[in-house]
Amino acid sequence: MTGPASSPAPPERAAHPPTALVWDDLLATYGFGDSHPMNPRRLAVTLSLIRALGLVGDARRPILAPRPATTDELLLVHSRELVQAVERVSRPGADLTSGLPWGLGTEDTPIVENMDAMARQVVGGTLVAAQAVMEGRVRRAFNPAGGLHHARRAEAAGFCVYNDLAVAIRWIQQHYGARVMYVDYDAHHGDGVQQIFYSDPDVLTLSLHESGTYLFPGTGYVDELGDGDGYGYAANVPLDAHTEDDSFLAAVRELVPMLAHAFGPDVIVLQNGCDAHVLDPLTHLRATTRLFEETVRIVGDVADAMCGGRLIATGGGGYAAYTVVPRAWTLVWATLCGDTPPDELPQEWLQQARLESGEDVPATLRDAPGAFPPSPRRADVELANVRTVASLKRKILPLLTGWGLAF
Ligand SMILES: [Zn+2]
Repeated sequence: MTGPASSPAPPERAAHPPTALVWDDLLATYGFGDSHPMNPRRLAVTLSLIRALGLVGDARRPILAPRPATTDELLLVHSRELVQAVERVSRPGADLTSGLPWGLGTEDTPIVENMDAMARQVVGGTLVAAQAVMEGRVRRAFNPAGGLHHARRAEAAGFCVYNDLAVAIRWIQQHYGARVMYVDYDAHHGDGVQQIFYSDPDVLTLSLHESGTYLFPGTGYVDELGDGDGYGYAANVPLDAHTEDDSFLAAVRELVPMLAHAFGPDVIVLQNGCDAHVLDPLTHLRATTRLFEETVRIVGDVADAMCGGRLIATGGGGYAAYTVVPRAWTLVWATLCGDTPPDELPQEWLQQARLESGEDVPATLRDAPGAFPPSPRRADVELANVRTVASLKRKILPLLTGWGLAF
């Protein structure tokens, strides 16, 4: 059949290194109480869905255990005063008002038992993900408990004690001298990550979010472009309220590859907050599960093309704990792995989720097309978002590339 004259057999397609999920059931005990939106059940039910679908735990999709971040690691981006304040208020019998200057003990970020240990575990989880990816042991890694993008250098904020994303990015810079692109499509502006790297030209931050005109933290406008040496390395897309999938995805599709080509990252860090979903109780965006699946695919393709596949993913916001979060992050995880799970949810999981929440949890992994009524403002919203993206490109591309400076 074959002889010396025949063309050589194609080389065997090298299997991708595995994709890792960072998880320990202990992470599902961290939260601010049942009445707080950051309810730890959202992580527990997500993991139970991933397991029920058989999407994790083999050689291709291993689980990595998180570890607590050390004080030195926290100090890569946080002030010593904040770290000490977290330790102090976490001790039994502590004066709980003493954390207020550091944003601890507020309505958003209340002090809870074991806060210091658990906050370190979340940061350590993202560090485990970063280390496994940078060492080449895995191609991609996902820490669903991470993504706490509001924590600032010296202040906890918006449900976030420490900024696991920023610690991991700085750790990567320190150990590998790598250029890092940060992409954040949580409904809220990724203000903490932006602040920490605002004058750093080796970290490009891109946040797509509901406009600060309507939503916490009230920042993330197109004119926030960075500072000093980092001018041109912060990009923001404040989306109009009621933005739907097509308009959101058009911005992702246009900006992520373009900015990556202009910047040249060695690795991408992706924050997958799922509070842009139409059912989320805290925001006014109108995305469906398609946003999460397609954004991971777009960003993953860019990481494959430009970064040797290196992609570190986290969770983030998402407050429809049963109706959205488990489905959204199962899709994020499956897409990272290159898997296409069936649409029908396992009956046992569905019954349990409905029983526990008392809510009408959808029976399918993906929202059906047309499951939600279109926004009556669709045309206006799409036009506003097109203008916002164009405005950002006009401002940032000359700074990133040096092109068009003469205009
Ligand atoms: Zn959010």
